[in-house]
Amino acid sequence: MSSIENDFLKKLSEQASSQITDQLNTGILILDSQFNIVMWNRFLQVHSDKAVAANIGKSVFEVFLELPQRWLTRKLTSVLQLKTPNFCSWQQRHHLFELPHTRPITTDSEFMAQNCTFLPMETDGEVEHVCILIEDVTDVCHYQGQLQQALDKLAMISRIDGLTQIYNRKHWQESLAQEFAKAKRHDKQVSLIMFDLDNFKHLNDHYGHQGGDKVLIDVSDTVSNLLRVEDIFGRYGGEEFAIVLPETNLAGAQELAQRICKTLAVTPMHYKDSVFNISVSVGVAELKDSDTDYESLISVADSALYLAKSNGRNQVCTELDLDSTQQKSA
Ligand code: GH3
Ligand code: MG
Ligand code: MG
Repeated sequence: MSSIENDFLKKLSEQASSQITDQLNTGILILDSQFNIVMWNRFLQVHSDKAVAANIGKSVFEVFLELPQRWLTRKLTSVLQLKTPNFCSWQQRHHLFELPHTRPITTDSEFMAQNCTFLPMETDGEVEHVCILIEDVTDVCHYQGQLQQALDKLAMISRIDGLTQIYNRKHWQESLAQEFAKAKRHDKQVSLIMFDLDNFKHLNDHYGHQGGDKVLIDVSDTVSNLLRVEDIFGRYGGEEFAIVLPETNLAGAQELAQRICKTLAVTPMHYKDSVFNISVSVGVAELKDSDTDYESLISVADSALYLAKSNGRNQVCTELDLDSTQQKSA
């Protein structure tokens, strides 16, 4: 090949790479070993609104004041010394360069989310330059955020009872299992309250299913207002509810149970033009050393609840009442 042809090919190659570099939808920034700017492409010029010529030869930290100097110096030094590429994703750092994004979408940040790749650049076997590739991943970041929000919402919905907005049985029972394990491991107390609406069937018959539903919602709201944040309130089924009380003994749980029973008995229920009263029967149990699973706690609280029913409803019974009933019948 003649030298004229050689020169022509070299020029063509230079022009092609400069045109490609300037049309790429990725930022390219080349630094020397002192982190001074050697070149950047059009993408970076347009998005940073900084003129290339005025900044060539300046320290990258002087031109882009927002850069995390210590962190980036360590990163660039390792690329130069190890001669291996490095990467920083938007999940690690949302962005390195404060470049405004130009999306019509609303995002959490006013800046473009970036994936940055750091490439060692070799000349004659020596690595004296680093190329930083800045990829705009604002869309990925935005849609990932939306997906996460949707997943969080779904997870929330899967834990909540659609009617009363308190925990559903599945989640409530999982929480009880966790509290049971925690209490056993750390030798802590935990108690359980279960309550069931009295003669709810009559209420449904009288006010219709929707009237009954409204009562279930109002009962849940009223009881929620009596609880601590750490108490775990769930709908156990139909018109039966359950509350896990972490770090609470039987006496504490009984006191709360009485408050729930009395408050509900005096809280007027409203449905359409009707105002009426309801009542609940309540069972209370406390975790004992001999309990090997959380089901036994449910079973004792449930038995106490049914004792309250058979004793005439609108009252609280604890596991101690069960013991005395058994002693009497023995
Ligand atoms: P007790 O005092 O012995 O508990 O009598 P009760 O009438 O409350 O109990 P029973 O088990 O006979 O009836 C419960 C009723 O609760 C029957 C069922 O149709 C109704 N129920 C269950 N779930 C719902 C619900 O989500 N909404 C409405 N409105 N009613 C429900
Ligand atoms: Mg009932
Ligand atoms: Mg029931």
